[in-house]
Amino acid sequence: MNVKLFLDDLRVRFPNEPEYLQAVEEVVTSIADVYDTYPVFERYNLLERLCIPDRVIMFRVSWVDDNGKVRNNMGYRVQHNYAIGPYKGGIRFHSSVNLSILKFLAFEQTFKNSLTTLAMGGAKGGSDFSPRGKSDMEVMRFCQAFVNELWRQIGPDTDVPAGDIGVGGREVGYMYGWYKKMTREFTGTFTGKGLDFGGSLIRPEATGYGNVYFLLNMLATRGISLEGKKVAVSGSGNVALYTAQKLLSLGAKVVSFSDSDGSIVIPEGVSQEQFDEIFEIKTLYRGRVSEFAERHPDTCTYYRRERPWRHVACDIAMPSATQNELDGDDARALLQAGCFAVSEGANMPSTPEAVDEFQKARILYAPGKAANAGGVSVSGLEMAQNSQKVRWTAEDVDCRLRDIMADIHSQCVEYGKEDGGYVDYVRGANTAAFLKVARAMIAQGIM
Ligand code: NDP
Repeated sequence: MNVKLFLDDLRVRFPNEPEYLQAVEEVVTSIADVYDTYPVFERYNLLERLCIPDRVIMFRVSWVDDNGKVRNNMGYRVQHNYAIGPYKGGIRFHSSVNLSILKFLAFEQTFKNSLTTLAMGGAKGGSDFSPRGKSDMEVMRFCQAFVNELWRQIGPDTDVPAGDIGVGGREVGYMYGWYKKMTREFTGTFTGKGLDFGGSLIRPEATGYGNVYFLLNMLATRGISLEGKKVAVSGSGNVALYTAQKLLSLGAKVVSFSDSDGSIVIPEGVSQEQFDEIFEIKTLYRGRVSEFAERHPDTCTYYRRERPWRHVACDIAMPSATQNELDGDDARALLQAGCFAVSEGANMPSTPEAVDEFQKARILYAPGKAANAGGVSVSGLEMAQNSQKVRWTAEDVDCRLRDIMADIHSQCVEYGKEDGGYVDYVRGANTAAFLKVARAMIAQGIM
C-alpha cells in the first residue's frame, strides 16, 4: 500500500475534515505493514472501504426555546461500519460538533468496538446544540426533536446510540423516551439509560474505571504500583470524574481537573472530601471548576482558559476532556516534569506531535481507542442485559469490565510488542482491531 497516495486521495475528497483525516492517518500509518502482508486486503480494496463510512445521515433539528423562539441546529448520525455487529457509538451535543469530528469519532469507534471482544460495529452522532445554559425543558424539547428525525435509522439490532460530551443520563432519558413513543417498543436501543428503565449498573462509571484498569495493566508490565502516584486528569465530566474516583480509591493523588473555561491544579492532590465537592459542583449544579478554586485558594490554583499540562508536576496523565487537548509543547512539559505514563480517557486528546514525543521517550502511552473502551464495553453488556431482560449486579459488571480491559491490553501487547520489549500500544490496538474487522468484511463479501 502506498500510504502517501492513499492519504493524498482522501485529502482531496474530504478537504474540510481535518479531525477525520488525522484519525485515518494515524491508523493507516500504523497498519501499513500488516496490510501489505495479506494481498487479499488490497484485492478487496479493504482500506478505502474501512475508512469511508457506510453512510452519513444529516438533518435539521428545529425546536422551540423557553422564549418561544424557533431554533435550528444540525443533527448527524455517522454509521461507519457494521461488519462485526450493529452500529454502536455515542451522541455528542456541543457547539463545536461538525461532520469532520463525528466522522473521526465513528471511525475510531469501529476500531475501539472491535477491541472490546463484543459484537458491535462503529457509529457516532450528535449536534451542534449545546445543553450548557439551557433549561431542562429546552434540553427535553431538543432531544425529542433530534430523535424525531433519527428514530427510523436506529434500533436494538441496527444502531444503538449512547452518551458522549454533553449527553449524560438526562439527555439519554429524553431521547429514549421519545424513541419509545415513536416505535411503541421497549427494546433498549439506547445505552446509558437510567437504572429504573433498563440501564446497567456501572455504566456511568465504566469509561473512567476502565481507563484506570487499563493503566494498572500497563503499569504492571513495568512492575510499577499506582499507590501514591500523582495523576493529572483533564475534564470534569463523566469520564474525568469517575477516573478520579477510582484513582482515589486505589491510593493515587489526583492533581488537576479542567473544563472549557480553564483548569485547576491541586499540587498535593485532592482529598476525598474535596473530590466529593467537585463531584457535587459538576453533577448537581452543572457548575464550573473555577468555583472550587474560589473556595480553596490555599490549596488550589486556577488557570483561566488554560489546560493543566504545563502547570502540573505529575507521574501520570489521563486526558479526559476532548480531542487535541494536549499538544507537542504540553507533551514536552509533561515529560520534563517526570511523567512516565499517559492513558487517554478522551478520544484522540493528544495531537500527532504529542504522541510522537511520548513514543520517542518510550513512556507508557495508551491511545483512547484502547484505554477508554470500558464505556462502550459496558454499553455492550447493557445491550446483553436488555435483550435477556435481566439485571446483573454491580460486582458482576465491574468484574466483566476488568476482564475486558485486561483482554484489550493483551491484544495491544500481542500486536504492539517490539524487539527490546517496548510496547507500541498505538500499533498494537490498531492492528488487533483492524484484523478482526477486515476478516469479517472479507468473509461477508463486497457491499
Ligand atoms: P462530558 O460532557 O461529561 O464532559 C466533558 C468534559 O470536557 C467537560 O468538563 C467539558 O467542559 C470538557 N470539554 C469539552 N469540550 C471541551 C473543549 N473544547 N475544551 C476544553 N474542555 C472541554 O463528556 P464525557 O466525559 O462523556 O467525554 C469526555 C471525552 O471522553 C470525550 O472525548 C468523549 O468522546 C470521550 N469518551 C466518553 C465516553 C463516555 O462513556 N462518556 C466513552 C469513551 C470516550 P465543559 O463542562 O466546560 O463543557
